[in-house]
Amino acid sequence: MSRLLCAAASACFLTAATPSALSDAERYLDQFVDKSVSPRDDFFHYSVGKWLREHPIPKSERAWGIYNVIQEETYQRLLAISKAAASANAPSGSNQQKIGDFWFAAMDTMTIAKQGLAPLDSEFTRIAQVNDLTTLMAAIARLQYIGVGALYGGYIVQDEKHSDRYAVHLYQGGLGLPDRDYYFDTDDRAQLLRREYVAHVGRMLNLLGDDAAKARANAATVMAMETELAKASRKLEDLRDPIKNYNAVSLDSVGKVTPSVQWRVHLADARITGVDTVIVGQPEFFQQVERSLRAHPIDHWKTYLRWQLAHTYAAEAGGRFDAENFHFYGTVLNGTPEQRPRWKRMLDEEEGYLGDALGQLYVAQYFSPRTKQRYAKLTDEIFAAFADRIRSSSWMSQPTKERALRKLDAVTKKVGYPENWKDYSTYAVDRRSFLGNALRGNIWRSDYTIAKLHKPVDRTEWTMTPQTYNAYYNPSNNEIVLPAAIFILPGIADSLVDDAIVYAYAGGTTIGHEITHGFDDQGRQFDEKGNLEDWWTPADAQEFNRRARGIVRQYSEYVAVGKLHVNGEATQGENIADLGGINLGWDAFRKTDQYKRGVKIGGLTPAQRYFIGWSLGWMNQIRPENLAVRVKTDVHAPSPLRVIGPVTNMVPFYEAFGVKPGDKMYRADSVRVQIW
Ligand SMILES: [Zn+2]
Repeated sequence: MSRLLCAAASACFLTAATPSALSDAERYLDQFVDKSVSPRDDFFHYSVGKWLREHPIPKSERAWGIYNVIQEETYQRLLAISKAAASANAPSGSNQQKIGDFWFAAMDTMTIAKQGLAPLDSEFTRIAQVNDLTTLMAAIARLQYIGVGALYGGYIVQDEKHSDRYAVHLYQGGLGLPDRDYYFDTDDRAQLLRREYVAHVGRMLNLLGDDAAKARANAATVMAMETELAKASRKLEDLRDPIKNYNAVSLDSVGKVTPSVQWRVHLADARITGVDTVIVGQPEFFQQVERSLRAHPIDHWKTYLRWQLAHTYAAEAGGRFDAENFHFYGTVLNGTPEQRPRWKRMLDEEEGYLGDALGQLYVAQYFSPRTKQRYAKLTDEIFAAFADRIRSSSWMSQPTKERALRKLDAVTKKVGYPENWKDYSTYAVDRRSFLGNALRGNIWRSDYTIAKLHKPVDRTEWTMTPQTYNAYYNPSNNEIVLPAAIFILPGIADSLVDDAIVYAYAGGTTIGHEITHGFDDQGRQFDEKGNLEDWWTPADAQEFNRRARGIVRQYSEYVAVGKLHVNGEATQGENIADLGGINLGWDAFRKTDQYKRGVKIGGLTPAQRYFIGWSLGWMNQIRPENLAVRVKTDVHAPSPLRVIGPVTNMVPFYEAFGVKPGDKMYRADSVRVQIW
């Protein structure tokens, strides 16, 4: 594990090139670069191979890399905050009391083991009392309300065509395996996973009290029911098109597709009222819901709901539920031999239920206003670079350029942390029951979300916490959101980092990536106000699609693991954003003094260090089982390809490392992709 010194994530700019600073910067790069590999043959392993070799994946992890280095530091910070809160005797009802009690109950494994699923008794009783379609749908509504995605997915977000209001969305869902393809793939591994999955469902039902024979039969029923839902579910790549997955319809017309469901009553049972129109993502999925509701006896549904409830809360129930859940999802599916240490898992839970309360304390200690200003300035530089690229684009017409600039200009930039924090005052947290805290936490989240429905859209909201090492673009708000933690640089004092790394990794390319999402295959279909609306001339749209197909082709050719290729269609938005991000960071970096002076560090030119900095952002190694899961479920390409894919489309990369025809990193000019 590298030491993490950039504690405040501040001042990560090299201001004075003093000799000692240079040698530190040199040492910094030396941790990562494997000089025995040629950058022209395998740029990923050249740039970060040394660190990866020296830091194998721990037994309890699915993957290990830059994300974990940052996350380890964040865990230490959150641990200190949680422990301090637990011993603070904080006033009842305060955020600190909630954090302290949540932490105490989460670590109280004796009480957790004693309680098991008992805090969910009344939920299981409700399922046991189901005796017809009406009580079945009421039970499903209650499960949706407490965070269990039984039968379908339901959520409330902005209406994609009317971003100034929220809408109820009904989506495909209800599965226990990570994606619909797991139910149908025919390779050996897929068949093994299905067998193991049924065995897992059986053992969970056994833990719920079914005898062994009954549990086996019931598990087969669950598998059959989920397979029906999976069959009517769209593939990952078919969920990308925002128009095809948008069907605004009246509740009455959903009722015509699913006569077995009284939607008005069903939604009211889930505490959602006053709704006449909903957005159905995949209408054919709800046709299957109707067929399944008619086809299966009530007893099948009761089994399915018991499984879904226990599955959702297994980790929080602790003991044998937690162990069985980890056995399948951790070991069998993702190849991880050991559970992660409990304290880290519980910090993840705390993050999920009280993320903003933790975030408030986190930024007070670890993110200064000065840092916020600095990265806000970097954000402006990246935006200026994007505006220049749009203006000088060789393939867009003037009218489309003007609309693109208008959209870019309207983007809201959220940097560091939200101006308004979520208010947890109605969320009761105590020391008596961890599972109880989790249940009430899910109810609090549902209440919070449902309350939005009849209020104006809150454009100040964040859906990530500041301590999250990630960032996002939200098309409905036309905004980029950059949490404080995304700016952390691992293993180096703030003042010693070289601008090449800051622009390539910590700030520049990340900001560039997120803003490019506003102009990727999905984002480009939203206008400056966040509404799904076509602002492209037909010729420009056609040219965009032609270029996007180039990136789909490029990534589809890459093998991710074994015989499994990258899903070029499903990952195209992220790959377009990566290519935009590295280009925009490069444009901004070229304007810095550091680039212009051209001083070498450790024998590396500023341009070479920039591309190594890009690699640093994706430094990661992963278990093959976990990688296979990600290829089927994740819209991001595997890390080495997130490095190699974009750089091999860039002339400055070829120039920096002297890459020539015949080198493995060389892609012919005719197939290089250029979009933004
Ligand atoms: Zn992205």
